[in-house]
Amino acid sequence: MNDKLVTAESRTLLSATYRGDCGHGKVFITFTHSPDGRMLQVFVKVSSTINLKPNTEPRSEDYERAAYATMCDRAEAEIIGKLVSTALESGTTPIDVAVLLRGVDCGHPYIVPKGHGRLFEGETITSMADLVGRAMLLFMMEHAYTQQ
Ligand SMILES: [Zn+2]
Repeated sequence: MNDKLVTAESRTLLSATYRGDCGHGKVFITFTHSPDGRMLQVFVKVSSTINLKPNTEPRSEDYERAAYATMCDRAEAEIIGKLVSTALESGTTPIDVAVLLRGVDCGHPYIVPKGHGRLFEGETITSMADLVGRAMLLFMMEHAYTQQ
């Protein structure tokens, strides 16, 4: 048999998920990484506060506006993850990407309340991108990843 040996390690990615908050809701940021802590991909999901299932009932203008905002948030989360993952795959360092994301201001700041054990307590998260940048830096600290 000359097939390459496929081990469980080679087809199973390690990952770490952080749950944070921004002005657009709860955000789940998942990093896939190598055993030595090298960040490979980033996936971003924002939790919606509104049910977007098809509905035959007429909806209010407020509902429609909230539904559109929720869809935009989901698209933003998806594209942040895709662009960051593409940058990492192309050789941009996670630190350089994180620095680009940190401080992006969407105009909906969120001050994380203290005393609940939440991510970045007492800090002001300025956008979903800012939260992802912060989470990337935290991941690197917690996984003792060092740049060459
Ligand atoms: Zn915003």
